[in-house]
Amino acid sequence: MDSQQFTTEPSSNGTVERGFTVGDVPGLRSPASGADRAPLTFDVIIAGCGPTGAILAAELRLHDVRVLVLEKETEPKSFVRIVGLHVRSLELMAMRGLLDRILEHGRRRPAGGFFAAIPKPAPKGLDSAHAYLLGIPQPVIERLLEEHVIELGAQVRRGCAVVDFEQDDEGVTVELADGERLRSRYLIGCDGGRSTVRKLLGVGFPGEPSRTETLMGEMEVGVPREEIAAKVAEISETRQPFWLRPFGEAVYSVVVPAAGVGDRAEPPTLEDFKHQLRTIAGTDFGVHSPRWLSRFGDATRLAERYRVGRVLLAGDAAHIHPPIGGQGLNLGIQDAFNLGWKLAAQICGWAPETLLDTYQAERHPVAEDVLDNTRAQGELLSAGPGPQAVRRLLTELMDFDEVNRHLIEKITAIGIRYDFGEGPDLLGRRLRDIDVKQGHLYGLLHRGRGLLLDRTERLTAGGWSDRVDYLADPTAVLDVPCVLLRPDGHVAWIGDDQQDLDRHLSHWFGKPAD
Ligand SMILES: Cc1cc2nc3c(=O)[nH]c(=O)nc-3n(C[C@H](O)[C@H](O)[C@H](O)COP(=O)(O)OP(=O)(O)OC[C@H]3O[C@@H](n4cnc5c(N)ncnc54)[C@H](O)[C@@H]3O)c2cc1C
Repeated sequence: MDSQQFTTEPSSNGTVERGFTVGDVPGLRSPASGADRAPLTFDVIIAGCGPTGAILAAELRLHDVRVLVLEKETEPKSFVRIVGLHVRSLELMAMRGLLDRILEHGRRRPAGGFFAAIPKPAPKGLDSAHAYLLGIPQPVIERLLEEHVIELGAQVRRGCAVVDFEQDDEGVTVELADGERLRSRYLIGCDGGRSTVRKLLGVGFPGEPSRTETLMGEMEVGVPREEIAAKVAEISETRQPFWLRPFGEAVYSVVVPAAGVGDRAEPPTLEDFKHQLRTIAGTDFGVHSPRWLSRFGDATRLAERYRVGRVLLAGDAAHIHPPIGGQGLNLGIQDAFNLGWKLAAQICGWAPETLLDTYQAERHPVAEDVLDNTRAQGELLSAGPGPQAVRRLLTELMDFDEVNRHLIEKITAIGIRYDFGEGPDLLGRRLRDIDVKQGHLYGLLHRGRGLLLDRTERLTAGGWSDRVDYLADPTAVLDVPCVLLRPDGHVAWIGDDQQDLDRHLSHWFGKPAD
């Protein structure tokens, strides 16, 4: 970052951290005086225990980072929104040994048909061992992740809202709603679309405000199933965000356009649902006894920067967009996997100087692309004759394998290629879960370390063996001699020359151990 001077300072856990002097950075607030500062009890405080915050905490714990997760809600969320985990997120779960635990709570569905809900099957031979979508209730995935981070040794405190913070040269003082003050080296805002951390940082969140809102809830109905099915089929022709789907015995999941854009902080009422059902369907289906009611908008916004000094943003705190294509939670999970090992490296003292800033350099363009593809999908779902003509044309084009593949690789995030400079096409991409002599590649990545996969059996990552594992396997199903994988599974180097490898090991994993 331009106005920070990097210094080297000892950290409380005995390692050396590359810190910085807080300079004239926009959004930085006045540092507390040294005498007032409490000890740095934690390395990282994460605001928000949604999926992004929980995954980030888990990634940090793999490296023994002292993590505290602060969650403002006292109880897990009650609304049961089913979300889809796409291929790349499933791969990441497999990389950390979490996939089996999650699979038993979800339903596998075909991977295709998600781009603007155009019903085209996925192209044959999608490049993944996990080429499906997993439908799973968001509260279930949140519960599984919270249990996981606690098992890994993170502290999670519920009923603790972050209301303010100050950062200085050594750390961040975080203030809770009850006035308690806590200190850590870094603060990460994983506190959702209305992020307090982002607002306090003064980071801009440009984009488009909500133009429409949708009501969503679960309730009982007062008319027979057949009557509902007929009406739903009739309205589905109009392409409005509308459904009534049975959810358990007597309960229906209801989605209906709202009358206008309201105050998102206020939940809608049952009367709002009844009114809108009558407007759209001509009947309110006798809905009653709601289990939960919520609303969501179609705002599209992206944080101008992901880092200001010792405070970073991830997940919905950094980007929001309509849920078309089901990418938001997936994007947040992938942010967390990108950031986790880099922040851990910074805290453990081996991070190369620019490593932490590659988080924004790599993830900001990915979010920009997701925002753009949701804008495009929004247009393709509009009812007007122009967008409908474009939709028909794109539907035809998707019969070409390359077009279909390109779109599905976008939605599933397996097409992401970070810019690591000139090199073969695989450089910067994630490596699929290939077979290796010890079983599956991803089985070797559970500890969140780098991996040198060497088909030549002549190379070594010796000086970095505290951060990078080594597997010599001439039989590995790869068409290059050797790859260096980062802890997030992206290919950081390809080649067969030890000197070149050493340069790249230093670039990504810092100086070799003495
Ligand atoms: C109808 C709908 C369907 C969706 N379907 C999908 C889908 O199929 N696939 C997909 O990938 N995404 C989907 N999404 C998007 C997805 O739900 C979000 O992108 C995801 O929840 C973002 O996770 P997060 O952890 O970044 O933020 P959140 O889930 O918003 O979590 C933020 C957490 O921070 C807490 N918090 C807030 N402020 C504070 C504070 N000051 N201090 C402490 N804690 C705080 C909140 O209580 C919350 O627990 C959908 C969204 C909607 C509305």
